[in-house]
Amino acid sequence: MADITSNTKPDFDAVVVGAGFAGMYMLYRLRGLGLSVRVFETGTSVGGTWYWNRYPGARVDTETMFYSYQFSEELQQEWNWPERYPAQADLAAYARHVADRFDLWPDIQFKTAVERATWNEDTHLWAVETGDGGRVTARYCIMATGCLSAVNYPHIEGLDAFAGETYHTAHWPEAGVDFTGKRVAVIGTGSSGVQSIPVIAEQAAHLHVFQRTANYVIPAHNRAMEPAEVAEIKANYPELRARAKQSFSGNYFPVAGPSAMAVSEEERNREYEARWAAGGLSIMAAYADFQTSDAANETASEFIRNKIRGIVNDPDVAELLAPKQLFLCKRLCVGTDYYETYNRDNVTLIDISETPIDRITPEGVCVDGRVYEVDVVVLATGFDAVTGALKRIDIRGVDGLTVQDKWEEGPKTYLGLGMAGFPNLFTITGPGSPSVLTNMIPSIEQHVEWISACIDHMRDHEFDRIEAQAEAETAWVAHVNDIGDQTLRATCQSWYFGSNIPGKPRVILPFAGGFPVYANKCDEVAANGYTGFTLA
Ligand code: NAP
Repeated sequence: MADITSNTKPDFDAVVVGAGFAGMYMLYRLRGLGLSVRVFETGTSVGGTWYWNRYPGARVDTETMFYSYQFSEELQQEWNWPERYPAQADLAAYARHVADRFDLWPDIQFKTAVERATWNEDTHLWAVETGDGGRVTARYCIMATGCLSAVNYPHIEGLDAFAGETYHTAHWPEAGVDFTGKRVAVIGTGSSGVQSIPVIAEQAAHLHVFQRTANYVIPAHNRAMEPAEVAEIKANYPELRARAKQSFSGNYFPVAGPSAMAVSEEERNREYEARWAAGGLSIMAAYADFQTSDAANETASEFIRNKIRGIVNDPDVAELLAPKQLFLCKRLCVGTDYYETYNRDNVTLIDISETPIDRITPEGVCVDGRVYEVDVVVLATGFDAVTGALKRIDIRGVDGLTVQDKWEEGPKTYLGLGMAGFPNLFTITGPGSPSVLTNMIPSIEQHVEWISACIDHMRDHEFDRIEAQAEAETAWVAHVNDIGDQTLRATCQSWYFGSNIPGKPRVILPFAGGFPVYANKCDEVAANGYTGFTLA
């Protein structure tokens, strides 16, 4: 490392890693402060999640009039979402529009993966190294790497030796895949599997679905947006957005009552029927005690299981599709014709809950000694969620401390924004923040605005170093774990707790105390001069 002092001028004031919705907005805000910024992005365009996840049927399952930026009134007024749940192509087009509208392109370097970031205590700068051999220095390093971006390729024996085509839903070829006349295996029935299975089934000669855990799937009831409803939402955007920010998930889902057990079965089922008919995620907020009462939880579970039994013709298949785990244990799925797809003659459900996939042979997928011969294997096996993208970069802080070492027993952050030992490094929607338990875009905006205000404050006060204090971090991690352990979710297996990745420590990854509580805490920390951080 060159012998330079803290007066050394960096190549950039800030480096931002990732040009998804977080990285794009971070760039916009920092440039607004007059900072020089370089964004590194592995892909060839903006959009992050909505750039990579191009699998058939991919669309957002949050109503997009609200799964969108609100920082610019002009942007939210001028953009028109065609459908209630827009498809990946529309979301990617929106991301490109934002990049055009705010002239973001010149500051983003595409096809460039960040491999290493190293803190220099003498200069108070980060050195960021990229896969193309590049190296730049920056005062701040901001990780906008996404919560669901590090792809989980399962360790299934023989996968590499499969003679046909293999795809992962989160790394789908830009040119698409033609399944016509092909025998296809889909492994995985989380949100990505649930969305892609009905679309692949329509094209494939035969589809084998390998299901390890049955999930709860609520119908999306996707449809075109009506001009009158668009006009009404746009006229009331500020009020609707403000109301959403006061709700636990940053989405406005009205809660029917504090407890499912406090109302009659008839009333409860009427509520569930109404939410099932409306479609989408709102059923998860029907009653406030789904995460605290087994009995309340079971009422929603059984309602959905009965729906499945009513849709799927073969009772044995219906029972396999009926989830056994608690409602909201795993992330709720939203689908279109998901359960109906299992009534097709060209679809077979293979239960691998008791007898896992033995191996992949060159011809197909082998379970319990039988080979299901296929031409294509689709891995809908998800992500190393929340921590994976950060741990895949070699990030070295004070005294060479790595994130991998620091997080050996689970992620440790202060507010999901910063870490002791990693000065001037911010994580957008990092572990320990509400992130994946909320509507991601408002959560991204809240983090970006907090980080840019913090950097502005540092500049005003001539600070060039900020670091989370170890005690504040320890207390926050304990608080995140306490709250996480109070929910029924803590009793089951899900990626929220890292259970989908062999060897990953079992620790809750997001903060489960809700968006408003969390945002207030961040505001309080800032208003009190960044308590829990040391500024120098
Ligand atoms: P996921 O929810 O983690 O689902 C992965 C699936 O693959 C699960 O069914 C899992 O079974 C199975 N699986 C993993 N490894 C396996 C193995 N070795 N053998 C057999 N099965 C295996 O991943 P995802 O569907 O990609 O979704 C992840 C998250 O991304 C979602 O929960 C959601 O937050 C987000 N997402 C959102 C949208 C949307 O907005 N529309 C769409 C897609 C994804 P187990 O359950 O038994 O582990």
